[in-house]
Amino acid sequence: MKTVPFTKEFVADIAKTYPTPFYIYDADAIRSNLKRLQNAFSWNRGYKEYFAVKALPNPEIMKLLHGQGCGMDCSSYTELMLCEALGIGGGDIMFSSNDTPAEEFVLARKLRATVNLDDITHIDFLKENGGIPERISLRFNPGGEFMLGNTIMGNPGEAKYGFTREQVFEGVKKLLSYGAKEFGLHAFLASNTTDETYYPTLARKLFRLAADIKKELGATVTFVNLSGGIGIPYQPYEKEADIAYIGSEVERVYREVVIPAGLDISIYTELGRYITGPYGYLVTKAIHEKNTYKHYIGVDACACNLMRPAMYGAYHHITVLGKENDPASKIYDVTGSLCENNDKFAIDRPLPDVEIGDYLVIHDSGAHGHSMGYNYNGKLRCAELLMENGQIRMIRRAEKPSDYFATLDFLNLF
Ligand SMILES: *Cc1c(COP(=O)(O)O)cnc(C)c1O
Repeated sequence: MKTVPFTKEFVADIAKTYPTPFYIYDADAIRSNLKRLQNAFSWNRGYKEYFAVKALPNPEIMKLLHGQGCGMDCSSYTELMLCEALGIGGGDIMFSSNDTPAEEFVLARKLRATVNLDDITHIDFLKENGGIPERISLRFNPGGEFMLGNTIMGNPGEAKYGFTREQVFEGVKKLLSYGAKEFGLHAFLASNTTDETYYPTLARKLFRLAADIKKELGATVTFVNLSGGIGIPYQPYEKEADIAYIGSEVERVYREVVIPAGLDISIYTELGRYITGPYGYLVTKAIHEKNTYKHYIGVDACACNLMRPAMYGAYHHITVLGKENDPASKIYDVTGSLCENNDKFAIDRPLPDVEIGDYLVIHDSGAHGHSMGYNYNGKLRCAELLMENGQIRMIRRAEKPSDYFATLDFLNLF
């Protein structure tokens, strides 16, 4: 059963200062989750998690993670700027971008980030825009379908990312001729999977590729980046991925492939969802009840605050605060106020009897939640709050109309 680490009274008290909707992130839970991940890979001397900043690009969260030895995975100019502002640089930034504008490479090189190239043509592009570093990473796309057992997990052949196998070899040769000395390999082949064979299977592919690169080109791969993709159980019946087991299985593959090849490889990950997803909660209030052909609860949040249900039909569990133990005796659609019929946080969802003024908590919103927010219908993005030792601190204020209008020329309008 999914639980909420705060009570209705606690939220009612917060709402006096910060009107709903708002996000609450559980700092202590995020910290201990990161620790579990780091422990799972502690057998690997160079292991490092680079948090995928796009999942939750809040400087307070980044500081909290960085304080525990976590690096940052950036993919845009502003994400790099966040790192720069926090004094995060060098080996603590992985720049895994694609279709990359020139100025982003320039800034990444200025911050001495590890650059993870998405395409063979980006080698010369980087040479012109920032220059080729001695240590550089290549994103691999094996093409075809990516299988785990009998299940198709993804379709790399249809994905825009990465180098083909031939291009990896050609790319390494070219980079060697440009002065690069140390290489990394990266691939991202499945998204939001709790399948515990994903990382070990991906690791085997990349370790073997590293061994082939050494054999054929004499070039040294010193790190393998397993990227993101480990999922979280959004549904209450789903099981969490056992990260300790995943770590030990990657270790088994390491012993099988990396050690006999005479390589010494540091393992990196770029997890986003796994790190913060389960520890973020979107808190919203029921403001309307509507009965037509269906029963609707209208809340004060909308898809602009959390896009995943509208965009992917994603399930997010909902708890009605103060009614945690009541029977789910009613079936509701829980809606936002956008003029879009897909603006529903839940469809045909069994919930306890919801009354106007009840607080609804939308679970597992800590990654790709607030950060995917948008301003359609002139809706404003909500505040983000951090819960630490039972205390609440605002780490991003809610947008105001003046933020929405900031890109217009007010002098001419009014
Ligand atoms: C989005 C992304 C991640 C993080 O993905 P999660 O599903 O949040 O783990 C990591 N690396 C890259 C390159 C990405 O694009």
